[in-house]
Amino acid sequence: TTVAAAISTVLSISLTACSGDSDTGSDGKAASVGIAMPTKTSQRWINDGQNMADELKGFGYTTTLKYADNDPKNQVAQVEAMLESGVDALVIASVDGRAFNDVLAKAKAADVPVISYDRLILGTPNVDYYASFDNLKVGTLQADFLVEGLGLVNGSRKGPFNVELFAGSADDNNTRYFYRASMEVLEPYIQSGDLIVRSGETEMKEMTTLRWDGPTAERRMNKLLDTDYADQDIDAVLSPYDGMSLGIIKALKKHGYGSPGKPLPIVTGQDAEVPSIQSLVDGEQAQTVYKDTRELALVTAYMVNSMVHDNKPALNDTRTYNNGKKVVPAYLLEPVSVDKSNYKQVLIDSGYLKKSDLD
Ligand code: BGC
Repeated sequence: TTVAAAISTVLSISLTACSGDSDTGSDGKAASVGIAMPTKTSQRWINDGQNMADELKGFGYTTTLKYADNDPKNQVAQVEAMLESGVDALVIASVDGRAFNDVLAKAKAADVPVISYDRLILGTPNVDYYASFDNLKVGTLQADFLVEGLGLVNGSRKGPFNVELFAGSADDNNTRYFYRASMEVLEPYIQSGDLIVRSGETEMKEMTTLRWDGPTAERRMNKLLDTDYADQDIDAVLSPYDGMSLGIIKALKKHGYGSPGKPLPIVTGQDAEVPSIQSLVDGEQAQTVYKDTRELALVTAYMVNSMVHDNKPALNDTRTYNNGKKVVPAYLLEPVSVDKSNYKQVLIDSGYLKKSDLD
């Protein structure tokens, strides 16, 4: 597959890079890497942290892994403490992409390389590289699934269909990318009247969800259903993240959806988290976007290793991610759309999830 090919490229480049060198920091001790992760409320980030630590240990690094409880100040303080303790490199999955100017100026002064992990850090030149997924493709996959599921693409069903749209956290740069790419797919159908957003809320700022919080999405869905769907059914909901999708489905069920004669609308998602795959198996959430966090950790570990050895890591995108101060060179992995038809093959056969994780 493309991903496997990409990883093996990264692998060979980095292996050449580190041959004949040992992974030591400037003081001669094993180099240490600080890993800053946003939250433990989502399984994906727990896996990310664990995978990162494991991969880096495999290279002979020591690691410090911190979770910020979704609090930007807390996260900045954690990174600050990592720098004070003398880490040789930083890997940061930010809570608030704009919170790092001062602390990363200190990283720069101390010559500590910084990798933005999954989410781009904004407004500072002191980010060396970005490792993530093709975030535009994530948004495209979600919206494509929605319009295809409604039958609008092959013309098997005729609209108009009622849809509502959700976006992620406004302080996460990925949110804009998911939104932009999804809207590119949906806009023509909204223009033609095949899709109707009865709430009228189609601007990103009207649909963001602070910290990607499931209960917040549930509250908004309840409100939309009470206000705009008293006399009509809703056919699809664009949700950018599994934790939100489950909140949205709760609100829908509370309003009678998912019962005989009143099917749940199509609800999208992201991350292939176990509760959402269970929901998919149970015929509730219709889709998710799978991002193999094992590969992201691997690519990032190779990036760290290249940088510690003053080598240039493998990159495959040097133009998309402008953080306001510079275009941050990136390595982007491919997201995959998952639904009932392919979850076994994509998630179970690849070992990402275990069959026993599901009922
Ligand atoms: C990640 C998504 C995740 C979301 C919520 C985004 O930055 O790219 O994979 O669903 O954060 O945690």
